[in-house]
Amino acid sequence: MLKKYEFILKNLDCANCANKIQNKIAENQEFQNVVVNFNTLRLTYEAETENKVKIVQIVKSLEPEVEVMETRSKNQEQDNKTAFQIIRLVLGIGMAGIGFLAGLETQLANSLLLVSYFILLYRTIGNAVKLFKTSKSINENFLVTLSCLGAYFIGEHMEGLMVIILYEIGKILEDKAVNKTRKSISDLMDIKPEYANLKTDSGTQQVAPETVKIGDIVIVKQGEKIPLDGMVMKGEANLDTSSLTGESALAKVSIGEEVLSGSINVQGMLEVRVTEKYEDSTVNKILELVQNATDKKAKTETFVNKASKIYTPLVILVAIFVAISLPFLGGISYTESIYRALIFLVVSCPCAIAISVPLSYFSGIGKASKRGILIKGSDYLDSLKDIQEIVFDKTGTLTKGKFEVTKIKVYDEKFTQDQVLELAQLGESFSNHPIAKSILTFNQTKVDSTKVKDYEEIAGKGVRYKWENQTILVGNADFVQTNEKIDGTAIFIKVDKELVGVICLQDTIKEGTREAFQVIHAQGIQTRMFTGDNKQVAEKIAKELEITEVQSEMLPTDKYQEMEKLLKNRKNSGKIAFVGDGINDAPVLAISDIGISMGGVGSQSAIEASDVVIMTDNIHRIIDGIQISKKTSRIIKQNLIFAIGIKILVLILSTFGISNMWQAIFADVGVTLLTILNTLRILKSEKREKI
Ligand code: ADP
Ligand code: MG
Repeated sequence: MLKKYEFILKNLDCANCANKIQNKIAENQEFQNVVVNFNTLRLTYEAETENKVKIVQIVKSLEPEVEVMETRSKNQEQDNKTAFQIIRLVLGIGMAGIGFLAGLETQLANSLLLVSYFILLYRTIGNAVKLFKTSKSINENFLVTLSCLGAYFIGEHMEGLMVIILYEIGKILEDKAVNKTRKSISDLMDIKPEYANLKTDSGTQQVAPETVKIGDIVIVKQGEKIPLDGMVMKGEANLDTSSLTGESALAKVSIGEEVLSGSINVQGMLEVRVTEKYEDSTVNKILELVQNATDKKAKTETFVNKASKIYTPLVILVAIFVAISLPFLGGISYTESIYRALIFLVVSCPCAIAISVPLSYFSGIGKASKRGILIKGSDYLDSLKDIQEIVFDKTGTLTKGKFEVTKIKVYDEKFTQDQVLELAQLGESFSNHPIAKSILTFNQTKVDSTKVKDYEEIAGKGVRYKWENQTILVGNADFVQTNEKIDGTAIFIKVDKELVGVICLQDTIKEGTREAFQVIHAQGIQTRMFTGDNKQVAEKIAKELEITEVQSEMLPTDKYQEMEKLLKNRKNSGKIAFVGDGINDAPVLAISDIGISMGGVGSQSAIEASDVVIMTDNIHRIIDGIQISKKTSRIIKQNLIFAIGIKILVLILSTFGISNMWQAIFADVGVTLLTILNTLRILKSEKREKI
């Protein structure tokens, strides 16, 4: 039985050496499927026994300075860290316990107590000092240190100890909860392909996806991930694309079809010609996007960060005020007033808020990406819930964008239907527009476009090119300047000054779109359509979807200007979103409050221009996104109100001497834990309406 082994190659600093090591190890029969990944520094192989000695020997013979290290998975490292904290805690408590048993006033008890303070407190002190050194600011670590030492010096040894013990227990539980969240998010993101089976003259070779070039052929066996974007050259397979798109239905692919990296080959075998380098492949784009998403902070988050900078010093000032003034105002002793001031410091630790707000956004974005909704920043996640109006592009967004050619009409008898089609196909073979793709796939004749000269695409109108010294126009009525009235979408063909024919096309509304619009309307969100297609087609579709505001025959610049107007004339703070397929839409996507692109899988420009990328063609994902946004914001609000409420309550009680330090620290640690647990609810899946 072969087992999989894994090591980290430390100090590996050239991609070439990685290949050398990989090949040398692979020369040994006992090691199978050897992969050295230069980027992750990981060596993986399958073998009956680990035989590390031999591996080290081979590695050292090639690269003496490279170190073969055990890969302790992050989880294990985390477990070790937690174990260490627990040991520290038990040791500290033990010491203090012995001290108390030995009798409080003895020298021995006192020293034991001091040791235990040290064991328990040094990490917190260390953190406080580190933060102060790096950013000249103070935080909860400082507050805890201060209240703990303060309690010791006014003789409340037990109280001070309790503060730090509870604080440490809280930290351990907190770490656990935070890591749980991180893990469930990184599990979602576990889509990175580890290797590619590169086809070579002599068979196949396992290589890192990063080293595969465009045009290379890779083999994808059953159960493997597709390592890079490409086109199927041989074979058939059922692909599971759920980690990219959130759709659970399997997609069947066969020769000539595009496949995306990150999908899993559930059944079948494929030979794929690579069309994108790894860094430009879908899977890498998604990973980068999600990893960078939380870099951009939401307003709430920045506010909390700013507020906590002022907040902590302020709390200390108030505490000093309490300590000094209470003996005068309330007639209590200084020891008592200092004690109350220390409670102040404990309660006011902002950690519940500082942890739970960013964690909530992180969870929301992670959750959304699992559903095939990529959100480029916490701010956009936050804004989704405030959408009051959504403007939709038509072609490829509301409709399938796969036009069916219904008729080819010839105006000039010198041309046949086939010739008219060929002229259109010659021009469209250079365009990415859905109309172009549909015309090209009609009748599947191969056109020889080598003689096409001076090709030019006029966005929202059509294409123009030169062919055998003639100027050919392929585009809408406005573009070829004709008054011909044709039902449906019509693409005219003009040779020099003469209209020679027209191709009539029909597009259908995507499945589920009608239902999605009902839900959108029921939520009180207004809808509108912007399209470059003609009025008659636009109105027919709008009527079916119950969209009342329709603007048709628009050029991309018109769409931009109309969106500008909408944004300027809005009456409240509600957000206006634009949903498009990314073709011709980039400027509108960029200017609207939230630019949402649909069918983002594979389309580079869409991913770049928009704030939210819906990986599938399903409009219902927008509703899902709004729902996740609402839930995230609801949970953030709950956490803020709960944390602040409890703290204010304990502060008031402590000022009047009603609560003691134990209760205060309990309130702080407990609140933090509860807010984190509450945040975890964002990740939980919930039943949603099936559309
Ligand atoms: P939409 O707003 O519906 O997405 P576009 O702005 O992309 O539409 O295009 C508007 C119109 O311009 C299309 O309906 C079509 O008539 C014409 N058009 C755009 N690109 C092309 C093309 N490559 N070939 C032919 N017609 C085109
Ligand atoms: Mg479009």
